[in-house]
Amino acid sequence: MTEKTIDLRSDTVTHPTEDMRKAMASAPVGDDVFGEDPTVNRLEAMTADLLGKEAALFVSSGTMGNLASVLSHCGRGDEMILGDHSHIFTAEQGGTAALGGVFPRPLPTRPDGTLDLDLVVESIRPDNEHYPRTRLLAIENTHNRSGGRCLPVEYMDAAGNTAHNHGLKLHVDGARLWNAAVALNVAPARLVQEADSVSVCLSKGLGAPVGSVIVGDADFIGRARRMRKVLGGGTRQAGIIAAAGIVAITEMIERLADDHVNARKLAEGLAKMDGIFVDLESVQTDIVYFELRRDDITPAQLSAGLKESNVLLNPTGGNLLRAVTNLSVSSADIDRTLDAFARVLDSGTGAAGDDAVVYG
Ligand SMILES: *Cc1c(COP(=O)(O)O)cnc(C)c1O
Repeated sequence: MTEKTIDLRSDTVTHPTEDMRKAMASAPVGDDVFGEDPTVNRLEAMTADLLGKEAALFVSSGTMGNLASVLSHCGRGDEMILGDHSHIFTAEQGGTAALGGVFPRPLPTRPDGTLDLDLVVESIRPDNEHYPRTRLLAIENTHNRSGGRCLPVEYMDAAGNTAHNHGLKLHVDGARLWNAAVALNVAPARLVQEADSVSVCLSKGLGAPVGSVIVGDADFIGRARRMRKVLGGGTRQAGIIAAAGIVAITEMIERLADDHVNARKLAEGLAKMDGIFVDLESVQTDIVYFELRRDDITPAQLSAGLKESNVLLNPTGGNLLRAVTNLSVSSADIDRTLDAFARVLDSGTGAAGDDAVVYG
């Protein structure tokens, strides 16, 4: 029997559950560009409800969700304030500038994933013909590059109040907002109460095969719907995939707690190993960043050695590596992963490895 591959590269590697496949097979469908797909309409209504907003829109990916949102808040030449380690700034091809002419104003991301709100206020442009108009503040929760840390309710509220007091809108990139809600034990709607728009992924920890949803007021969603069409995201019998999204938001949110427990177990196990450094405070959800501090083995060699034991994870640049727990990884798999680490580190193996990569 071949040994199971333990895939810790991302929570995007998950496959749809049996319930999802059944729901997909029997989903009632219609033409969603006409607004006539009952399954898409149901997913949108349920997600709007879950996030406490008026309306929602099903989109193809998190990148499309962020792009359609930003372009629905800002016109060409407008400015958005965002973190220099945010996914929108670092990992979406600069699409908001390339496709929408939206000028990015990156501010330093603090280790906890937040932006200094005083600095945000200082960065807002006065009305002057030399300057772009500052229209939007974007934040990310959980914060991916900060190790999946959660931004707490108080910060989310303060960010919204700061934006609104200065005539800006607040967009939340909530690709993993579900993880934050579970880890903080707070309703998703409460976390984004002050947000004007939110983008959430169905295809990460929740396990759906495709899709994200954006939410906001009806006006905003009307503009985003037009934007989705011009971006090529107006699809027809999309209920086939939206059906998996409904299962995702009804059956798969609470179990994220298991991924968090497994990430914690992995982090604590790694922290005990010689030459591995983990900031345990940073491990709050399903993401574990750790640093390799050894002369005899590189991150690429470590990941290549683990791959020989059917354990997959990513070097992410420098001495850092990242592992992400997900629904295909059990507690017993974490034990096997830690054994594989111990073996590779003991042998100081020099298997040739791939260059650093960063995945969603
Ligand atoms: C994964 C991710 C996205 C983008 O999602 P895709 O579906 O891969 O386009 C956006 N923001 C954050 C924080 C993410 O982790």
